Amino acid sequence: MPALAARLKEVSISASVVMTMKGRELAAKGIKVISLASGEPDFPTPMHAIEAAHKAALAGDTKYPPQDGTKALKEAVQRKFKRDNNLDYALDEIMVANGGKQCIYNALMATVDPGDEVVIPAPYWISYADMAKVAGGRPVLVNCPQNNGFKLRPEDLDAAITPRTKWVMLNFPNNPTGAACSRAEMKAIAEVLKKHPHVWVMTDDMYEHLVYDGFEFCTIAEVEPALKDRTLTVNGASKTYAMTGWRVGFCGGPKELIKAMVNMQGQATSGISTISQAAAAAALDGPQDLVRERAEEYRRRRDMVVEMLNQAPGIACHKPEGAFYVFPNIAGCLGKTTKGGRKLETDTDFALALLEEKHVAAVQGAAYGMSPYLRISYATDMESLREACSRIQEFCRELA
Ligand code: PLP
Repeated sequence: MPALAARLKEVSISASVVMTMKGRELAAKGIKVISLASGEPDFPTPMHAIEAAHKAALAGDTKYPPQDGTKALKEAVQRKFKRDNNLDYALDEIMVANGGKQCIYNALMATVDPGDEVVIPAPYWISYADMAKVAGGRPVLVNCPQNNGFKLRPEDLDAAITPRTKWVMLNFPNNPTGAACSRAEMKAIAEVLKKHPHVWVMTDDMYEHLVYDGFEFCTIAEVEPALKDRTLTVNGASKTYAMTGWRVGFCGGPKELIKAMVNMQGQATSGISTISQAAAAAALDGPQDLVRERAEEYRRRRDMVVEMLNQAPGIACHKPEGAFYVFPNIAGCLGKTTKGGRKLETDTDFALALLEEKHVAAVQGAAYGMSPYLRISYATDMESLREACSRIQEFCRELA
């Protein structure tokens, strides 16, 4: 076979995809696997969004889209940023991409030169590091320890920034921990960033609307307007509106950056499905009560999962503010042997044994840059969650 490009050598297949695939293999053998591995809402896309897509297709909205997004969707995004975040973006400061993921990819590809550093608070969504590497950059990880609620400490951020730092990535509410930052915490992070004017700031706000118990979401350009002209605010329809398959993300940022990102995107995809864009505009402009109702359901699930996991011997589970993940510590289970005779040395051993012996799929913390933890997604129905947590309890009780 001819050689593959060197830039892909260090890029791995996402562990959540691997675990989901392993779960499917067992399911294909007739085994009842409960998957807590995937980061995707179990709810359906709102009907008014589906109807808008249908209408757009029937109306002949089926030609190549503008590369930066349709005017209708960009205007809906503009209203969203104002309504939810009190941020004013002109239309040439907004772009639409194939998911929040492509916004991030476009931004890194448009700005990162070989050797540039991308500061990533850990644990982190694995794609940040892999995309930084594809772009030729070097991920620099900053630990967000459990004893600080998995949040970024300003002094740690400050210590990680060097003259080579190109970007600082922020993602609160966070995948995989669910941690979110209060306004005061975000302000303290902003104070550090203000001291380093050569650094771009990317905030991935995909889980903005999934915060619980009255927690107030905030985003950095709103908390510190002085940073707005070097901040890229990324968001999308996937998590808020259960629209993962439609592939619509969007972002707001300085005009010159957006222009370069649109150029990048134009070379890759020529823009986003017009039908999906019509659906996303309807979701953004439509009634938002469904979002709140679903958040309340996620909260109920989080509370139950945290309580049940904390009853499992050897597991300690922090209760996070948002997203649909918990990140329990499994240190108390390591060094032990499972009922099936597997020795647990690492969180990867734990995740594999749990899948093989109890048929519950979750992802090891190692895949997100922090061990020994498990990432558990509670974007699944209550009954499956209860059953999965009982199986985890049993798995831990049987360790010897
Ligand atoms: N950012 C984070 C933190 C995520 O967890 C995900 C999806 O799992 C994304 C971005 C990408 O979302 P999408 O590309 O579907 O908009």
